[in-house]
Amino acid sequence: MATYHFPDDENFEQEWNMQVRGRIVGGHEPVTVTTDNGTISSITDEAVDDAIGGDNVWVAPGICDVQVNGVGGISYKAEDLTLEQVIETTEWMYKTGTAKWCPTVTTSSAEDAIQGLGLLAQACRESGHADASFCGFHVEGPYISSEDGPRGAHPLEHTRDPDWDEFQRYQEAADGKIVIFTLAPEREGALAFIEKVAATGVVVSIGHSGATPAQIQDAVSAGATMSTHLGNGAHAMIPRHPNYIWEQLAADTLWAGVIPDSHHLPPAVLKCFYRAKQRDHLCIVSDIASIAGLPPGIYGNTVGGGGVELAENGRLSLAGTPYLAGAALFLDTGIANMVTYTDASLEDAVRMATSNPAKLLGLEDKAGSVAEGKEATLSLFRWQEGDEKLQTVATVVAGELVHTA
Ligand SMILES: [Zn+2]
Repeated sequence: MATYHFPDDENFEQEWNMQVRGRIVGGHEPVTVTTDNGTISSITDEAVDDAIGGDNVWVAPGICDVQVNGVGGISYKAEDLTLEQVIETTEWMYKTGTAKWCPTVTTSSAEDAIQGLGLLAQACRESGHADASFCGFHVEGPYISSEDGPRGAHPLEHTRDPDWDEFQRYQEAADGKIVIFTLAPEREGALAFIEKVAATGVVVSIGHSGATPAQIQDAVSAGATMSTHLGNGAHAMIPRHPNYIWEQLAADTLWAGVIPDSHHLPPAVLKCFYRAKQRDHLCIVSDIASIAGLPPGIYGNTVGGGGVELAENGRLSLAGTPYLAGAALFLDTGIANMVTYTDASLEDAVRMATSNPAKLLGLEDKAGSVAEGKEATLSLFRWQEGDEKLQTVATVVAGELVHTA
């Protein structure tokens, strides 16, 4: 078992063993969860003094978000990004109950991507929080569609065909921590590339793609196992059928990542995607941009240039236009929205943000459930039936209390 050291927390000795009290999501009676050296050592009915949480608090596996571009004004893609800023992003995420995530590096020059991945890898070596919370990196692009629409906001000049040697350089810079790779399967050479990448254990995800249904099927046969933010990064107009959205919805072996912020997918679409993929093949993702966590307002000098406006309701748009400029709502809101807009129960919605991403990434043996012997990474929250809002109470990462509300 890995032993985590938390150089960023001077009190870590005191908090190394702890007790948490609450109802495990899906369970009925409150329990006491005891952690020891970062692992859940026991779960009992007995109430204890000094436990974090309480009988009216829910205990879930740590919320895990496989698509995070930045937070708190810090972009994982910024050219002047510093190690301190990468580590600071952990504090922003913990406040929202998110305990694990995949920092996401989007389309850029090879040089910039390698520098960014190198910095993320260095953060894992130097910060216990980054090491415990970064469950690998998501590389989205550059081998995506060059077409307006599917390309989204990714810079056209850096979109290109898959290059195995370049991917290996990325993976080397990342200390082998790239775990999800998003590409468009219609690019030249993509199928052979998908086979090779999938064989290394990396999740190959279809995204920012204008592929034909046949190309989607070929990508699945070659080893693609996920769709990145299904329904976004797509043309505004497509044939009613067949098209790449239906084809991905119908492919039972494809996991779908969806953004349930109520701005990226209309509620009816979210509900249909949920019914098609069901609770076992859907992961909810935030896809948050660096503005997430900041107060509503107009911000300039963002990555990509131009000003963006963050509204009260969490909608992030290019200032003065109706166009979305990324996402800004965390998975605490995402879980609540799944309950509000689909048939998902709280248990189903939490599963799509905890055990499902753990399964997608092959981490289910150690994470993604509240059980003896599993990693003590937990999200504690209050949930009032009827008001459909999740309130974070505490975040525990590898046995350390990293946030209390
Ligand atoms: Zn995207």
